[in-house]
Amino acid sequence: MDEQRMLEIDRRHLWHPYTSTINPLPVYPVERAEGVRLYLKDGRELIDGMSSWWAAVHGYNHPRLNEALTRQLGQMAHVMFGGITHEPAVELAEELLSLLPQALECIFYADSGSVAVEVALKMALQYQQSLGQGQRHRIATLRNGYHGDTWHAMSVCDPETGMHGLFGGALPVQHFLPRPSSRFGGEWHPEDMKPLEELLEQYAGEIAALILEPVVQGAGGMYFYHPRYLVEARRLCREAGVLLIFDEIATGFGRTGKLFAMEHAGVLPDIICLGKALTGGYMTLSACVTTREVADTICSGEAGCFMHGPTFMGNPLACAVATASLRLLKESPWQERVGNIERILTEELSPLSRLGSVAEVRVLGAIGVVEMREPVNMGALQARFVEAGIWVRPFGRLVYLMPPFVIGETDLRTLASRLVHILEELDR
Ligand SMILES: *Cc1c(COP(=O)(O)O)cnc(C)c1O
Repeated sequence: MDEQRMLEIDRRHLWHPYTSTINPLPVYPVERAEGVRLYLKDGRELIDGMSSWWAAVHGYNHPRLNEALTRQLGQMAHVMFGGITHEPAVELAEELLSLLPQALECIFYADSGSVAVEVALKMALQYQQSLGQGQRHRIATLRNGYHGDTWHAMSVCDPETGMHGLFGGALPVQHFLPRPSSRFGGEWHPEDMKPLEELLEQYAGEIAALILEPVVQGAGGMYFYHPRYLVEARRLCREAGVLLIFDEIATGFGRTGKLFAMEHAGVLPDIICLGKALTGGYMTLSACVTTREVADTICSGEAGCFMHGPTFMGNPLACAVATASLRLLKESPWQERVGNIERILTEELSPLSRLGSVAEVRVLGAIGVVEMREPVNMGALQARFVEAGIWVRPFGRLVYLMPPFVIGETDLRTLASRLVHILEELDR
């Protein structure tokens, strides 16, 4: 298709994430992607700094993942999951069980990260109902969190940067706690637990669950906090009969240097949400995994089952590529790769903290964040990055890198140094 025509139709008829139809920011036509490179239709190539939002950990167009998909396509693309099972779903279950702590053993497949969050919240409510605690229907969460764009997921996103302003009255009212002030790698301030202690003392009787992103808050601010918070939250929730939900949709599968971010704290949630990198960035699939106790309690209730069952549940194509992706991850030296990315990003990005326009630089695992003092001009900055041959998508005050784990040292240094150069120019 002619590029001009394509852009015209796109501009007239297609919505992009968080984009205006009146005055949409430019979009860049990508023709193909391979390894850590995106190839634009006009012939330019960009080094990928985003992993397509945490997902493409093995890079693009991977032969092993392609092969798994093609093989499954020859068998069946999809079949309903009601009353039917299939090898891709069961093999993926085996892989997930081999990676997760033993206590997390009952798996619910869902369509996307946001839906996994909806599923987890529904599980928590049904669980409490089964225990005769139907009045517990509120959810507690941290400020600056992000849990997705669907209704209840939205209600637990940060009330200011999230969508509460717009949807305010229509959203269920939840309990918000300040994010922990204790930083990852810094000192632990026990007073960080005060708000949760007080909340549970006062309102435990109406709270079904606490949901949070362990250690790394993603789209709500790219903030890294002290793992001790999770240890204490685990204890407090258990004492108060409140379920603990870890949203590891962004952090799962190695991104923070551990396979799951909860391993930094060594604690288990009652429910974990997985997504994004689950399929190596190939297609949408998520999973909610819970304990036998939670699952069986839900199903011993009035309904006799968990009340959820999407049309494309356990899609065989998605399960097959997820299984291949998890095997690939297990066989790869991902820990060493993420460690190298952390070291190189720290070296390359740290000098930026001297700039007047930069509030802070922080790196954890394969995540490098430059927090600016003022919101960036996304359209202009994006264009500068593309001219420089790198794919980086800033938002608000955050310019950040989370490259595929397979990125080589030369590409990573090129990616980071070009970003540094552009932010230095901007500072002048
Ligand atoms: C991306 C994300 C979600 C939502 O996932 P979608 O697949 O975009 O619906 C939920 N929670 C966290 C932590 C995320 O990063």
